[in-house]
Amino acid sequence: NNIPIGSAVRTQAIINRYFVKAKKNLGQNFLIDQNAILGIVEAADIHAGDQVIEIGPGIGSLTEQLLLAGAKVFAYEVDDSLPEILQNELPKKIGDAPLEDRFKLMLKDVLKANFKEDLAGFFDMSKPIKVVANLPYYITTPIIFALAESDLHFASLTLMMQKEVAERLEAKPGSKEYGPLTISVQTEMDVKVALEVKHNSFMPRPKVDSSVVVLTPLKNKPEIENRKHFVWVVKMCFSQRRKTLNNNLKTLIPDSEKREALIKKLGVDPRVRPENLTIEQFIEIARNIPAK
Ligand code: SAM
Repeated sequence: NNIPIGSAVRTQAIINRYFVKAKKNLGQNFLIDQNAILGIVEAADIHAGDQVIEIGPGIGSLTEQLLLAGAKVFAYEVDDSLPEILQNELPKKIGDAPLEDRFKLMLKDVLKANFKEDLAGFFDMSKPIKVVANLPYYITTPIIFALAESDLHFASLTLMMQKEVAERLEAKPGSKEYGPLTISVQTEMDVKVALEVKHNSFMPRPKVDSSVVVLTPLKNKPEIENRKHFVWVVKMCFSQRRKTLNNNLKTLIPDSEKREALIKKLGVDPRVRPENLTIEQFIEIARNIPAK
């Protein structure tokens, strides 16, 4: 079958053949725009032999193009009606290799993944891994947090998400999108928005447009001794985003003199709002608050 899975006609044919009903609670919005699909593969810079984790292959529109670009794909999916479809609809052979040499599906919630254990035997764990996904939007931020905190050796993460989440990832201090997600990700990764995808590129159509974001691990990461503690402190500082830093710090540092001393050390106005602090300033705050 030469018509790509991600074309509207082929997707519709698959939907009819298997009585597929897109499950809203699983964030199923299938891509039916070949330009967008190839745009993701290009943004991820896929070459022959690349090892790719795909989250949520759905009916395989992106998976197929990753495979044709030469990648070896390990996919996490939770919908147990999809393995049969993927098995039947993905190409039987990729070049000379049978599909099972290039593609492995695991029916498992990606948030419960144990990457090292799951991938062993299929991937060469001494080599870097790329993540490529059209994410299920209801768990976009937990997935990004889980990937950012995981100890896998990632070359890059190329993720499609709601445009509004992409704006939070690439936000600069002083903007309303800047917050814990921005800071948690930007202390680990470089963030680039590669392309935007309109809502009519999906079946069914979501309400909002999407962006494809490429995250690349920073070569020089800021020194953060205890990331868990750091992320917790940042979340606390933003617990009331319209309030001043001084106010937000009250739970963390109940003693007003100590609080003022820290704010002075940061060299900021006590009335500053958390969204106006730089990442370095958050790191300094976390350093001055004992870990629980
Ligand atoms: N990749 C396909 C595409 O681009 O057309 C489907 C993308 S769809 C937006 C998201 C996919 O993630 C669905 O196939 C859904 O079943 C799957 N999914 C939802 N929750 C998941 C989870 N917790 N772990 C793994 N996959 C999940």
